[in-house]
Amino acid sequence: MTSKMPLPGELDPIETASRDEISALQLERLKWSVRHTYDNVEPYRQKCQAKGVHPDDLKCLADLGKFPFMTKTDLRDHYPFGLFAVPRTKLARLHASSGTTGKSVVVGYTQNDINNWGSVVARSIRAAGGRAGDMVHVAYGYGMFTGGLGAHYGVERAGCCAVPMSGGQTEKQVQQIMDFKPEIIMVTPSYSLVIAEEFERLNIKPEEISLKVGIFGAEPWGEGMRSEIERKLGIDAIDIYGLTEVMGPGVACECIETKDGPVIWEDHFYPEIIDPETGEVLPDGEEGELVFTSLTKEAFPVIRYRTRDLTRLLAPTSRSFRRIGKITGRSDDMLIIRGVNVFPTQIEEQILRDQRLSGNYQVVVTRDGHLDNLEVRCEVQRELSGKLSATDIQAISKELQHRIKTIIGVSTKITVMEFDAIPRTQVGKAKRVLDERPKQN
Ligand code: ADP
Repeated sequence: MTSKMPLPGELDPIETASRDEISALQLERLKWSVRHTYDNVEPYRQKCQAKGVHPDDLKCLADLGKFPFMTKTDLRDHYPFGLFAVPRTKLARLHASSGTTGKSVVVGYTQNDINNWGSVVARSIRAAGGRAGDMVHVAYGYGMFTGGLGAHYGVERAGCCAVPMSGGQTEKQVQQIMDFKPEIIMVTPSYSLVIAEEFERLNIKPEEISLKVGIFGAEPWGEGMRSEIERKLGIDAIDIYGLTEVMGPGVACECIETKDGPVIWEDHFYPEIIDPETGEVLPDGEEGELVFTSLTKEAFPVIRYRTRDLTRLLAPTSRSFRRIGKITGRSDDMLIIRGVNVFPTQIEEQILRDQRLSGNYQVVVTRDGHLDNLEVRCEVQRELSGKLSATDIQAISKELQHRIKTIIGVSTKITVMEFDAIPRTQVGKAKRVLDERPKQN
């Protein structure tokens, strides 16, 4: 059975340690990680030498700020194995990122890395309210993408039973959930809505579904989406964060008792927030780009890896580690429409304030002469499909257009469509933005 609050002894001791203990462990591990990378990853050593820094310069946590960043470009330049810190005979597994923003990057893991990854995902499952003995339906894609296998090993490590369903075959997903009665589902938020819609189509009510908790990540999703998923599936929806370059899913995960942003497993991943323009480290609480340094990884250590994800570091609440705020989006998701910065999640939030609209949407950007135009395509909920008059539809469009204009500051064309008109993603991440502007050279 799932239960909400952790019982004494259920958490790893470091999750409730004092800040001093955490900092001491971080410093010790950071010194190891920076030296390990410097000694074994030639391109990073060259970067350090060019900047005039050496692992011996790392005397306190703040000294990390003197070290050079790693970026996705470094990974691409040294594709496939140029940034690995161990010989290939020491590798236990390879993964690659899903390539949302260009050519995929390859990462490697030793057996120790796989074990550590399993333990942070297991910790994430416990944070989400899962306990040994629960059954977990894994609908993240299996394969080179880190989602499926990353979740899977954590499920087993947590003493739960993994159902390795992977993505797609929605009818079968639903059938299996009804037959096997899992307590937990791990999937992208967008695909969870597709599964929820299939339950609706079969007229299965949330209270007839065995699921109690969903652990959702791999793409940005807002509070409106959380309520929509919770209502449709009758579950608690928990946010898990991660990225291939740093490990995979399970770098951070929300706690069910607070649902106030993913707790970073700071004993394995050291976070910083920087100003994306200047690279300067910002104080906790300020919005900027999230940067991670791995503290225990052997095969593919990252030092000050720029994630391009925009968020804030928040003070600890239910655990001793700091949290991240909801990811607004990545810097490369940001659309600049007539000078206004817009993230798809901001539009999602406004759509979901209208209970008549479903969480499926698409944003289409086109160019008319020199001007960018933004069209927001959204859908009515299944029960209203085909039942609304032209006047109702017009009223929905006008209200949404007004809200987006006043709150986000951009003019949009709103197209309200019938239920199921927008293509669903069966595997992996939803494609929310169609950018049809001519490419700039
Ligand atoms: P790709 O970069 O090809 O999409 P990944 O599968 O490694 O490859 O994706 C990691 C990225 O997914 C993160 O950098 C972040 O942008 C996004 N992401 C992962 N989890 C979350 C989450 N819980 N909330 C928002 N965005 C997330």
